[in-house]
Amino acid sequence: MANRTAEFFPQEIIRRKRDGAVLTDAEILFMVRGLTDQSISEGQIAAFAMAIFFQGMTMDERVALTRAMVHSGHVMDWSTADLGRPVVDKHSTGGVGDKVSLMLAPIVAACGGAVPMISGRGLGHTGGTLDKLDSVPGYNTAPDPELLTRTVRHIGCAIIGQTDDLAPADKRLYAIRDVTATVESIPLITASILSKKLAAGLDALVMDVKFGSGAFKEDFDDAVDLARSIVTVANGAGMPTSAVLTDMNEVLGKTAGNAIEVRETIDFLMGRNVDQRLLDVVTALATEMLVIAGIADEATAPHAVKGALGSGTAAEKFAQMIVALGGPKDLMTNMDDHLPLAPIRRDVIAPKRGYLGALNVREMGVAVMDLGGGRHKASDKIDYGVGLTNIARLGAKLGPRNPIATIIARNDADAARAEKRILNAITLSEEPPAVSAAVRTRLTKEDL
Ligand code: URA
Repeated sequence: MANRTAEFFPQEIIRRKRDGAVLTDAEILFMVRGLTDQSISEGQIAAFAMAIFFQGMTMDERVALTRAMVHSGHVMDWSTADLGRPVVDKHSTGGVGDKVSLMLAPIVAACGGAVPMISGRGLGHTGGTLDKLDSVPGYNTAPDPELLTRTVRHIGCAIIGQTDDLAPADKRLYAIRDVTATVESIPLITASILSKKLAAGLDALVMDVKFGSGAFKEDFDDAVDLARSIVTVANGAGMPTSAVLTDMNEVLGKTAGNAIEVRETIDFLMGRNVDQRLLDVVTALATEMLVIAGIADEATAPHAVKGALGSGTAAEKFAQMIVALGGPKDLMTNMDDHLPLAPIRRDVIAPKRGYLGALNVREMGVAVMDLGGGRHKASDKIDYGVGLTNIARLGAKLGPRNPIATIIARNDADAARAEKRILNAITLSEEPPAVSAAVRTRLTKEDL
């Protein structure tokens, strides 16, 4: 129904926010209804977003905005699905080499959680879980509701994409923010992320809020502000939520790309060639998910995670999920056939010996994008077989036999461009640098 009969005028609400007023729940609901049914123009929504960008929103306003956006579309209800276990998910603010979702969903399923994980595509320099899964032949990221429910009920996890009827207000608002320089507003990011998560009908959520040179919020204090906003608003809207702050001054794991990250995931779940920082982040987030969902406590959860990995049950869950959603039965044992890589390999060698002192992780993400592994615009097709592997850790001793990374490219010209970008992204140091832990801190409701 159109919004015209309501007692408000959009321009009056925009003016009040522009001048720093605190909006009422009814005013916010009116704006979100008009956003959804398109009775409020794109210009007015853009002005409203810019007013919020400059004036901010109180936590109560953020809760009202989030709630209104949740109810702009379909809200999933797992209570009738007979799952018999808590429904829990993780959401990351985005990074480079961030394949953590692919590991967490099967680990938490193996430990007794239900994880209907709604994931996104790559955004800017960051990779998207959905694009990584699209590299698996036959895997269906848009199953019908019945298949989704069956998969979550029988296996415990399903990683899928967002449907059109999930928080449609966010879809229109995000598209307008994207072209009006209002993406970076913390109240708007909070409502955008949480509207989708609340609409997914979760019992609990863990946020992975990243900081550092590859993150959306580079500065640690800004990342803490975002984490605080999300934890406050999510709990205010009735969904138990905590956050883990993780370091994105290094690529997460040894690889970045699409098929190559699924290959690293399979190796990780099978206990082969496991990167310690990746293991630290996965363990911290999985632990937090088990705790917030009430499946384990802080003392027992890390053991449950270790057990799921060590016993192979997490790997089994991953393999079962792939098959249930249309992927190959022998993915885990036949990666070369199902996850082929591009033919060119080029080691990136530092111009002189030294330690890897710093890395511009955003540039590493752009290098993958430029190889064809990401999109410049929404309609671009992705080359799943390109990317980076053997990515060095900060503090690694670099030399002719110890590359910064190995480029996997479709042709020599692409490899040369990526090599130049990566060489520009590193800082060499003569002394080993101080390296921060991958997991900095957590933020729970009790910390607010
Ligand atoms: N991810 C989202 O879904 N929304 C934002 O606003 C930012 C990141």
